[in-house]
Parts: sequence; structure tokens; C-alpha cells
Amino acid sequence: MFRVTLDGMIAVFLAIILCSVFFAWVAAEIFQKGRENRRRKFFVICGICDHVFEDPSDHDLAECPRCGAMNEREKVIEI
Ligand SMILES: [Zn+2]
Repeated sequence: MFRVTLDGMIAVFLAIILCSVFFAWVAAEIFQKGRENRRRKFFVICGICDHVFEDPSDHDLAECPRCGAMNEREKVIEI
């Protein structure tokens, strides 16, 4: 049987807590990034009237609900 000191138990306990918090943080970042990319994929900015709208279809061209112009999908760049 090995001897366990109080300092060792505290160190192991803190290491386990820090590791679990770190992995939960990394998983939350990955899920949030994926959700953000999926959301941005459907946003289209009209080249004629600058109206930002959401088009969930998979077509290459999206029709602007405000002016009716057909727009190509482009990646929305965050400022
Ligand atoms: Zn438009």
C-alpha cells in the first residue's frame, strides 16, 4: 500500500478539475464554431441593395426578398 499525503490528494484533485474544465472549454469552442459556420452558410448579402437575408436552400443563386435580384452565395466576412 502506498502512502497518500494531503498535498498529493489536493494536487491530483486540482489537476482532475482543471483538465475537465479545459476539455469542456475546448468542446464548447468547437461546437460553437461549427454552429456559427452553419449559420453563416445561409446568410446572403444582396449586391444591389445590401440587404442581408437568410436563404436555407442549397441553390447557388438566392433571390433577394427586398429587390428581387439574384445573388451568388459568398462567404460573409465578419468585421
Ligand atoms: Zn436586394
